[in-house]
Amino acid sequence: DLALYRSKDQGGGVFHAYAPDLHVVAEERRVLEIALREALDKDQLHLTYQPVVNTIDGALTGFEALLRWTHPEYGAISPAKFVPMAEEARLIAPIGEWVLRNACHEAARWDGSVRVAVNVSAEQLHSPNFVTMVTQTLAQSGLAPERLELEVTESVFMREGTGAVQVLDKLLNLGVRLSLDDFGTGYSSLGYLSRTRFSSIKVDRSFVQSASRNVPEAVAIIRAVVALADSLGMTTTAEGVETEDEYQMVQHLGCSRIQGYYFGRPLPVEEARALIAGHMTN
Ligand code: C2E
Ligand code: CA
Ligand code: CA
Ligand code: CA
Repeated sequence: DLALYRSKDQGGGVFHAYAPDLHVVAEERRVLEIALREALDKDQLHLTYQPVVNTIDGALTGFEALLRWTHPEYGAISPAKFVPMAEEARLIAPIGEWVLRNACHEAARWDGSVRVAVNVSAEQLHSPNFVTMVTQTLAQSGLAPERLELEVTESVFMREGTGAVQVLDKLLNLGVRLSLDDFGTGYSSLGYLSRTRFSSIKVDRSFVQSASRNVPEAVAIIRAVVALADSLGMTTTAEGVETEDEYQMVQHLGCSRIQGYYFGRPLPVEEARALIAGHMTN
């Protein structure tokens, strides 16, 4: 993991995974929040695109847009660290809007068979005007709604009230696809699967890894998720497939799509375009 907190006593610009002094942590959080605000204005954010392929023939079906932040002084900061921070600082709505606009405008240039998946955090989904923003972004980019896949995690349902189901229904009415990310890692309630029409369930990398090491429970869980998805008319995407063994395992267990370093790392936009071009002439 990329270290996040800068330690004062070790001089500027050096980040450490552990900051023993809580005051330093709080102070550095504040500094990073300000930096994150600036990141939007100063062009420090960009998207990378990780290929998603079909399990049967390895054909490219789309890309997941993954956010990157390169700070001029602190360097690359992982979204696993700054996205939760952006949520707390109420910056996730503007950042998420930036992500969606960029991803939709980019995908509109691609071959019409290639989809783009965009992560939507719970905070962002519940922010006012989210559905309007998605509607406008689709219209402005010219991207066909069915080529946009919004990825949400189970945490969107953890809020009080049932607002999430309504918002997701409105998104479905626009014609976009929804997928349930990191499935099985949160506090899942299978009830949500019957209340929202997800196209796809994403099987978390932790299950994929354990299954390829023949942990029987992990194999059983993937098998059950595939069967459940199948009976609900949904597909499954295996995340974080890194090796041939893992690929064969998830293929054998019946996952429909694969994402992972074995098929491709998150790519700079030009490389994603080149991959599509190469793919289409094959
Ligand atoms: P995620 O949505 O579960 O994305 C998958 C993560 O797994 C990505 O990490 C990806 O780079 C990584 N990954 C893909 N294949 C492999 C593999 O074979 N092995 C390993 N070890 N890792 C693999 P990344 O890009 O660091 O993003 C981390 C998380 O940050 C994402 O997890 C997502 O929750 C969040 N995130 C990223 N971009 C955005 C964004 O635009 N908006 C929001 N709200 N969250 C984002
Ligand atoms: Ca995701
Ligand atoms: Ca995931
Ligand atoms: Ca994740």
